[in-house]
Amino acid sequence: MDPEDFSRIYLEVKEFYKSLDMDIEEQISIKLVDKFEMEKETKTPDEPMIERPATIGDDDKIVETRKEYYLVRNVKITGVFVLYGYPRMLTQKTLVHEMMHVWLKFGGSSSSSLGYLDLQGEVEEGICEVMAHMWLSSEIKSLPSRRQYEIRLGEYLKYRIESKKTGDYGRGFQKGNAAVMKYGLKWTLDYIRMTKSFPP
Ligand SMILES: [Zn+2]
Repeated sequence: MDPEDFSRIYLEVKEFYKSLDMDIEEQISIKLVDKFEMEKETKTPDEPMIERPATIGDDDKIVETRKEYYLVRNVKITGVFVLYGYPRMLTQKTLVHEMMHVWLKFGGSSSSSLGYLDLQGEVEEGICEVMAHMWLSSEIKSLPSRRQYEIRLGEYLKYRIESKKTGDYGRGFQKGNAAVMKYGLKWTLDYIRMTKSFPP
C-alpha cells in the first residue's frame, strides 16, 4: 500500500460512514507511516494509551501486524498512524475500527452533547469491532470474484472478529453485534449514548 492508495482507502472509509449517516469531520492527522515514524509519533512525553487491534492474535499467521497499527488515545485523540506495507483489507478494516473511535470522540459527540465520551472499554471497543465487521461484510460482497485473495482475507478477518469471545473486543463485539442485529445500528448507538451500555 502506498500513500496514494492510502488516501483512497481513507476516503472510502469516510464514505462508508457517510453512507450510514455518520459524518467524520476530524481534526487529527491520519497518516500512513513507516516504523521509524510510528515510534516517533506514538512516543510522547505524557505516555498516551496506545492501542493494538485485538482481532489479530498471537497464533495468527499475520501476527507480525499486531503491533503495527496504533491509535494514540490521549485525553483526546491526536492521531491515527497506520504502518506501511500491509494488505489493503487488513489496513482498511483497521482504519474503519479506528475511525469509529474518532467518530465517537468527535462526530458522534459534538452533535449530541458529549454523549459518547467516557464509554467503558467493552462498549467502545465492541462497537468499533461491530463497524469493522460490518465493513468487511459489505466489502466482501462488493468485490468481484477474481479478487479471491482479498475476499478470502476478508472472510478470515471477519471470522477472527466473530470467534473472539473474551476481553473488551470479544465480549464487546458479541454484545454489540447482537444488539445491532436485533435493533439496528442507529437505535443501538442511541441506546449507548443514553445509557453508556449495550441494550440487553
Ligand atoms: Zn479500538
